[in-house]
Amino acid sequence: MVSYQILSGPNDAEVHCSIENNELRICPAKYPPAQDDRHVRRSLDGVLSNCCSSSKPLSPRTISLYEVLSTSCQDGTLRISTIRRKNKKRPVKTYVILNPTIEDCQTFVKTLWQESYRNCSSKKRVKVLLNPFGGSGKAKSIWHDTVAPIFEAAEYAIDVQETQYSGHASEIARAMRIESYDMFVCVSGDGLPHEVINGLASREDASAALRLPIAFIPAGSGNGSAKSIYDTQKHVDCALGVVKGVVTPVDLLSVTQGDRRFMSYFSVSYGVIADCDLGTEHLRWMGEARFTYGVVQRILSRTKYPCTLSLSILSDDKDAIRRQYHERTGQACPEAVVSSPDSDTELGLPRLKYGTIKDAIPDSWVTKRYADMGTLYVGMMPYMSSTACFFPTASPASGTLDVMHIQASIPFFSALGTVGAVDSAKHFGSDFCYYAKCDAFRLVPEAHEGYISVDGERVPFEPLQGELHRALGRIITKNGQYYSQFLE
Ligand code: ADP
Ligand code: MG
Repeated sequence: MVSYQILSGPNDAEVHCSIENNELRICPAKYPPAQDDRHVRRSLDGVLSNCCSSSKPLSPRTISLYEVLSTSCQDGTLRISTIRRKNKKRPVKTYVILNPTIEDCQTFVKTLWQESYRNCSSKKRVKVLLNPFGGSGKAKSIWHDTVAPIFEAAEYAIDVQETQYSGHASEIARAMRIESYDMFVCVSGDGLPHEVINGLASREDASAALRLPIAFIPAGSGNGSAKSIYDTQKHVDCALGVVKGVVTPVDLLSVTQGDRRFMSYFSVSYGVIADCDLGTEHLRWMGEARFTYGVVQRILSRTKYPCTLSLSILSDDKDAIRRQYHERTGQACPEAVVSSPDSDTELGLPRLKYGTIKDAIPDSWVTKRYADMGTLYVGMMPYMSSTACFFPTASPASGTLDVMHIQASIPFFSALGTVGAVDSAKHFGSDFCYYAKCDAFRLVPEAHEGYISVDGERVPFEPLQGELHRALGRIITKNGQYYSQFLE
């Protein structure tokens, strides 16, 4: 316990601040005051201002150190800024304590900074990108009303920019001086981080640039990444998650298509999911329901998406996958144990050990034609939307991709049941759902037109190969893990 007596005025010690068990306590030194001790109560009014009105007796405040954003002591005033979790319009509360004992106060301030940011760095320099086009267009108000006040209270150096067109975020990431920043913050859906990663990956110093961590504030129609990282869509909690978060290595996927190579951090989909994600723009008026409507409609019509799929399988035994997941999540933060050997030695992107879509398929891969493919989904995070936990066993820097597919020919009610089970990740155990851990794959669709989605963005409807690079990227997570819905 670190304890300080903050003195005020000519009276006795009036406010007592202490740091104990990861909590900050601010309380009157003589609490609880005796019923008739009006002198003490009154004299507190001038001490802890902005907190207690004269009509209310001052009660002790206990604040989790996780919720302390900053503290300072200047001109005889101690200020402690904390988060107000339930108020997105006024998300910061500052306690102002007048006339503290100066010598104690400076030590207290230093200790409080250290204890409040024990696992992470403070006062970061951040590049914030707002996508005014994402979701229902609320990125600007989410930033101004909720996130900016929290970052300002945390004493961040902020450089904010609105994207002007699709592709702008990539250009910004490609051209920026990465040494000038400690992290990127995307106030958007899943698409803007995709652009940022591809901008960083297109630089000559790609491997070094990709170590600039990216943080996520959900402001799109697809926010599965923020849900996977912070377990919430609440902006106050996500912003606090960023401020108090840790740099976490993550796998990135190299995708080759034609002559092109680009990166993915989140998902690749083909079939029902890609069609519903990208092919239901005309149903935007339905809001999120357009997605459910699209899925049910396609299941009813038994739409098939014939293709050939080749997988570099590490395991497709569900029991083993489940067991490994539980063993892994029991470990400490993976940051300490994972390094990325490729990117330590190479300046550009790591080499492709399986070649590109133009090369022969390696002998070790398993290739099958699926005439009845309904949904092929490849994921690197658990949640693919705020409610759909498609990949319950995905974890950061595991070196594995989660691959699942469901055939269109399965009985109708089983198909509906499997889709409905995604909320609680129960589809994982369904006999109709194939699930594997892989490190690479190739998809060759048979039709001539249709949709393939990478990180929720449309890519050409052409054969595509993906190869995972372990721990090539960095993001900010709450505690080095993803949140998941794995009850089995
Ligand atoms: P959503 O979750 O709604 O899809 P995203 O953040 O994923 O939101 O972004 C959707 C798309 O918006 C991305 O393809 C991105 O390139 C594009 N975009 C970014 N800025 C702009 C802009 N100013 N005008 C139009 N499109 C933009
Ligand atoms: Mg998107």
